[in-house]
Amino acid sequence: MTGSREDMGPTDQFDYDVIIIGAGLSGMYQLYRLRELGLRVRVFEAGTGVGGTWYWNRYPGARFDSESYSYGYSFSKELLQEWEWSEHFAGQPETLRYCNYVADKFDLRPDIQFESRVASAIYQDDTRSWAITLASGARHTTRFLITAIGPLSTPTLPRIEDLGSFRGQSFHTARWPKQPVHLAGKRVAVIGTGATGVQTIQTIAAEVGHLTVFQRTPNWCAPLHNGKIDAETQLKIKAGYPEIFRRCHETFACFIHTPDPRGAFEVSDEEREAFYEKLYGERGFGIWQGNFRDILIDRKANATISDFVARKIRERVKDPAVAEKLIPKNHGFGTRRLPLETFYYEVYNRDNVELVDLTETPIERITPDGLKTRDKDYQFDIIIFATGFDAITGSFDKIDFRGAGGALLRDKWKRGPETYLGLMVDGFPNMMMLMGPHTALGNIPRSIEYSVDWVTGLIRFAHEKGLTFLDATPEATANWTDHVKALGVGLLSNEVNSWMTGINSNVEGKQTRIVARYSGSAPDYRARCDEVAAKGYDELRLG
Ligand code: NAP
Repeated sequence: MTGSREDMGPTDQFDYDVIIIGAGLSGMYQLYRLRELGLRVRVFEAGTGVGGTWYWNRYPGARFDSESYSYGYSFSKELLQEWEWSEHFAGQPETLRYCNYVADKFDLRPDIQFESRVASAIYQDDTRSWAITLASGARHTTRFLITAIGPLSTPTLPRIEDLGSFRGQSFHTARWPKQPVHLAGKRVAVIGTGATGVQTIQTIAAEVGHLTVFQRTPNWCAPLHNGKIDAETQLKIKAGYPEIFRRCHETFACFIHTPDPRGAFEVSDEEREAFYEKLYGERGFGIWQGNFRDILIDRKANATISDFVARKIRERVKDPAVAEKLIPKNHGFGTRRLPLETFYYEVYNRDNVELVDLTETPIERITPDGLKTRDKDYQFDIIIFATGFDAITGSFDKIDFRGAGGALLRDKWKRGPETYLGLMVDGFPNMMMLMGPHTALGNIPRSIEYSVDWVTGLIRFAHEKGLTFLDATPEATANWTDHVKALGVGLLSNEVNSWMTGINSNVEGKQTRIVARYSGSAPDYRARCDEVAAKGYDELRLG
């Protein structure tokens, strides 16, 4: 049999055939696929368990924003039939259980080394291999390296003076402890109102003694409309998986929602209002992903949905001054990643909740007892930082990736990432990236499964042909990078500061917008990658 372990004599000089960094959804599935090829694979994972995002983000209220049954892995029919999601949008504990179930079912753990943070990955020109050094100092070698380090996995704390001086408890949401945090009756601050902040705030408001929300930029949010999955629906879901995944395969961003082919002004005012009302009443991302085709590219079309949602916020929040603070004024609906909420706006009608607008009164410093804004000292028992991530390239920046000739990836990407298909980078031979910059993200497990299968196909090809060197060319990298940039032109989201445009006020050097995401359609993305594979990867330098 070609491509089997026996044919791979030369790689025996290395510890492994493939090293994967990260045991989240990408790393787990990549391990499964490569083991099918009979390869010696090792996964290094910083955490003590599998699950990546779902392992780290244990904050109160963490849950899916995409329908559970469209999110799980689709590769195993058996798994699909065995696993039962209890809610349309499962909470983090359930999703983490799911990740563990998958790890057990496919016996993944023996090839995963936990508590092993990768510090550096250095390409060895002479042997066409990678040397990986862990934070512990341990060194491992491999022919191929696959990064599965996640686009939102490097949490960032605010750059506020005296951050460490607080004597109470404080947590970044993505580093929420495993042991219970006692919130009942406590004076709690939440800083940040992105998707994470919104989920946290709406979940803890009723439990804490007093909640102060520090908001710098309000985000447009829409109702999640979660609910339990009853037995009859469960049967329908299980019988309907082929249709669910067929639909995800065809839609723009792999969600079960897809844009309405009409433009916002191709219907009457009454029809438009009725359509928005319907979307606002429906589950999930429909109001974002299943809206008129032009709301995310046409300012006037966007204004119609922004006005509609602003009216909803005004209806739901009793104090008009607070409602105005919660309505975004510097960006249109859906131009940042849409947080989905469950009675989030009603939280601000509670007596124990206060909203502080940081544009009016910025935080000056953290104090031993709480924090100080320009006009007030606040006392807290707990401060929760829902302040987001050094997104997309941040996790790459943290590891010393050195390619051919010792070139540092961090330097190469100084002015923004450059990639080939979002999967490779010229000058970094034998390295493949899963969910790195310039790939189609969307409903992420769907994108993960595609990318993992593509990478698996490339590695299988290398073994069948006896190749020990795979590299993107500088031309192909430049072309793909230009293509990704061109796709971003005209998108309203690319004119707005957010993690999606590479902005993080808390990270040095991340104040200039970049095009870090592929913003074309997932079907187009796959067609391009399929074409490369079908032509025998002839766009790559192979040796
Ligand atoms: P985020 O969207 O980047 O939001 C971070 C928040 O912290 C923003 O409100 C930001 O304000 C604020 N902030 C940051 N630094 C600050 C500072 N120094 N002072 C005051 N405020 C500060 O991060 P996130 O909410 O963690 O979400 C990131 C992404 O993770 C989401 O967009 C989504 O893709 C994913 N996510 C998914 C789910 C899900 O699927 N259910 C749930 C949560 C998150 P500015 O806006 O002014 O910068």
